[in-house]
Amino acid sequence: MYEPNKYTMKLGLRERAVLAVASLCIMSVLAVATLGVLRTNRILIKNQSATIDGIGSGLVTAIELPLAVGDTRELNRITEDFLALIPDGQFIRVQGGDGRTLSVSELKPGTFDQYIQGNTNGLNEVEFEVYAFAGEVDPFGLGELEPSDTAEPRNNAQGANLLGTIAIGVSDRTLQTSMQAQWLAMLVTIGVVMFATMPVSYLLVGCWTSRLEKLIAASRRISNGDYTHRIEDNRQDEIAMLAGSFEHMRAAIQEREEQEYKQREELRAAHENANKANQAKSQFLAHMSHEIRTPINGITGMLELIAMTELQEKQRKHLRTAMSSADALLSLINDILDFSKIEAGQMEPEQVVTDIHDIFEGVAEMLACKAEEKNIELICDIARSVPKFVLSDPTKIRQIAINLVSNAIKFTEEGEIVIRVSTDSQGDDEWGLRVSVTDTGIGIPQEQRDRLFKSFSQVDASTTRRYGGTGLGLAISKGLSELLGGTIGINPERTKGSEFWFTFRARVCDKNFQPTPIFHGDLHGMRAIILDDNQTNREIYTEALTNWGLRPCAFERGTDAIEALRQANDTDPYKIMILDMQMPEMDGFMVANAITCDQQIDTPTIVMLTSMYDTANAEDLESVSITSCLQKPVRLSTLHDALAKYIAGNMTRDHNEPKNEQDDMGVLKGARALVAEDNSVNQLVISELLKAAGISVTVVSNGAQAVTEVVTDKYDFVLMDCSMPEMDGFEATRWIREQEKSDREGRRIPIIALTANAIRGDRERCIDAGMDDYLTKPINARRLYKTLSIWVRKMTRVNEDANSMCASSEHAPLSPTVPGSTNRSAIDYDAALERCAGSHQVLAMVLAEFASSTANIEQELETLVKSMRFEELARQAHALKGSSGNIGADTLSAKAFTLEEAAKKSLPEGMEETIRSIAEELRAIHNEIDRIRAESERAPS
Ligand code: ADP
Repeated sequence: MYEPNKYTMKLGLRERAVLAVASLCIMSVLAVATLGVLRTNRILIKNQSATIDGIGSGLVTAIELPLAVGDTRELNRITEDFLALIPDGQFIRVQGGDGRTLSVSELKPGTFDQYIQGNTNGLNEVEFEVYAFAGEVDPFGLGELEPSDTAEPRNNAQGANLLGTIAIGVSDRTLQTSMQAQWLAMLVTIGVVMFATMPVSYLLVGCWTSRLEKLIAASRRISNGDYTHRIEDNRQDEIAMLAGSFEHMRAAIQEREEQEYKQREELRAAHENANKANQAKSQFLAHMSHEIRTPINGITGMLELIAMTELQEKQRKHLRTAMSSADALLSLINDILDFSKIEAGQMEPEQVVTDIHDIFEGVAEMLACKAEEKNIELICDIARSVPKFVLSDPTKIRQIAINLVSNAIKFTEEGEIVIRVSTDSQGDDEWGLRVSVTDTGIGIPQEQRDRLFKSFSQVDASTTRRYGGTGLGLAISKGLSELLGGTIGINPERTKGSEFWFTFRARVCDKNFQPTPIFHGDLHGMRAIILDDNQTNREIYTEALTNWGLRPCAFERGTDAIEALRQANDTDPYKIMILDMQMPEMDGFMVANAITCDQQIDTPTIVMLTSMYDTANAEDLESVSITSCLQKPVRLSTLHDALAKYIAGNMTRDHNEPKNEQDDMGVLKGARALVAEDNSVNQLVISELLKAAGISVTVVSNGAQAVTEVVTDKYDFVLMDCSMPEMDGFEATRWIREQEKSDREGRRIPIIALTANAIRGDRERCIDAGMDDYLTKPINARRLYKTLSIWVRKMTRVNEDANSMCASSEHAPLSPTVPGSTNRSAIDYDAALERCAGSHQVLAMVLAEFASSTANIEQELETLVKSMRFEELARQAHALKGSSGNIGADTLSAKAFTLEEAAKKSLPEGMEETIRSIAEELRAIHNEIDRIRAESERAPS
């Protein structure tokens, strides 16, 4: 882009040219005038000396006689007469042959004296000598002249005697005056020349510079992207040639620009088409997944129902195969759907409270049986610096971890797999976390590593044949880690096995988090012995026990450990033993047995680490003094608690212990469900699953029937399919909510959406329509029971609350009133608590953060609407949608979603009203948060 200021000139070409012409003229005039003046001076001087010479000669002749006779009077008279004749003559002095001054005539008296004293004052002296010729005719008959007595007579070349000298003093006044006049004339000439040449040269040079200026203007237009103006100059000189080259260049650029524009347009159109095609593909995939999920739903549901019946062992085996095939098919569909969502940019990261330790330890636990089947040690090592709670997307982190660990198990035949979690960087707000998965498997050849993260890429065909897989896992993991602000890679230095790693960014909830606490009292400084054949495990347990304040010592072989126990027994005995069960030579049982039987050893408290397949009953354990048995991979927090519990006799109970499945089933017994579903297979599956949990079921096959049925008030909840003929689930829900407005008791039935569309925006659509929860098909029995139990519990609590009107405020539950009560709660406390991994403390922090971050949101949104900054508005609304969803403020989340959609479409109509209703909802939420805070302060700790 042309920047005029960058190229501004101090003096233009035109001014410079005029100045040059003027300087040339002045210099020429000066040179000519100086030469003229010098020449005139020379002539003047020459003329003057010729005149003086002539007059001098006359004077010499005239004074010869008076001089010879020494007649000074006559001399005076003659010299005065001659002085008057000499131009600029100032004095005439006559001296005799002996040098005596005989006569002085002056034009102005005193001039001669001044001259003699050295004050020349522009006077020059011209001297003449007067001679008397020998043998010359005496004109006056006076005979030969007597030479003077005092001085030796002088003779000239012809031998004449010197009679005396004449000095004529001449001033240079005439010369000066003439010079002054000439210089003045020269100045005037210069002035006239300048006056005449400057405008002329200005006009003349202007003819060229104006053409150059046209070129400059043309170049500016070109640099500003305007190539349409032709550059023309039809003269035949250098500027015209320059203009010609310029025009050539402009035409070339214009042609190239037009081509590029065409290409850009084609590219844009192609991009638009590709986007449309991509959207169509995603839509197609979503529909396909819906279509495929529905029959899978039928298959898995039926299989689960069959599994609940009496079966022969062979049938059960076949059933397991069928179930795992259905699961594989489902995971394949999920992979394809995930991949297409990432590709279409439709996947967005969540920001919810995430328990980092729980994710990775959970993944290790989940995949431990697979690892154990292959006799591989699966270890999870989380650095002490890794915070427990962060704000991030647990589902995506878990998905990446599962993929990497599953691959590691798949491609490893023996050895170990270690999941290591550490901090990568620590900012003020955001931390970078790094996860690596190391295995001792087949490894990946160097040359194949480049294409690992590309979709559908596997190392070679034989790998695929042997191990199976789609080649999508790593591509999905890459997309997910980038979505979380990180990256993924493989350690190139590893030669044995492979090491995959990924990073992600997360906001730390509690910057002052405390790692697992140090043991105090008796436990502090206690000696502990670790016996494990796996070195990584030994290192991890040693570091953990040291961090907790114990004094650990690790051994690889049982015999060494027993010997160490013996030696330390009398001096500094080991009080705790961490004992691995599966070891070569001596296994854990054998070691424990040996220790118990050894008289020289006071048996320490033994915590045994077993695999899933190590079966031992309590009696067996007790017989060899094993106090506690923990299943590997052991969570360090579990080991910590076990030590605290069994050694110190400190039977601490976890307050947030999750309620188990049995509890869930107990709650559901006797509940009444209305199922709105059009697909007959799904109807059967869902109703059978519900009946299996002791729930009574009524099935309807469209939304309109559901609306009529709900009025009968016979149900505790509705399971509502979203897409149904006649009236879909969204509309039916809106109808039901409308009807409920006229209910005197303010009842509100929980509606749980059933949808096969796992696409973006579905959840918001459901919430927007007034639904309370969301289940995706195929229905997973555990998830179904879990979700339903939450809602049934809530309903029961509402009824209990209604019955116990006299409940004192001190004992009132901390969670706000739940849906179904007359005063609808702005926050779903239970859902929010679940998102915070059950931690009231974390939820309190999240709520406080939410309250402060939304304090001025109304004004901010209004300003954005007024200034029509829709893009920013959509961003703000999106953020609000997410943050309110996190705290279980689903109504607000839905309203924010409406605003976001309107902002995306730049539709200002109705926006202000939406913002007003958002503000109202926010006020309710802020009040709720204040109330929760006040109550938690009042509640006994
Ligand atoms: P797949 O579903 O085929 O496993 P991935 O994208 O997860 O797809 O992996 C792509 C390929 O990368 C695998 O087929 C395998 O060849 C290679 N690979 C991935 N992880 C490992 C590993 N831990 N050890 C050896 N090869 C691996």
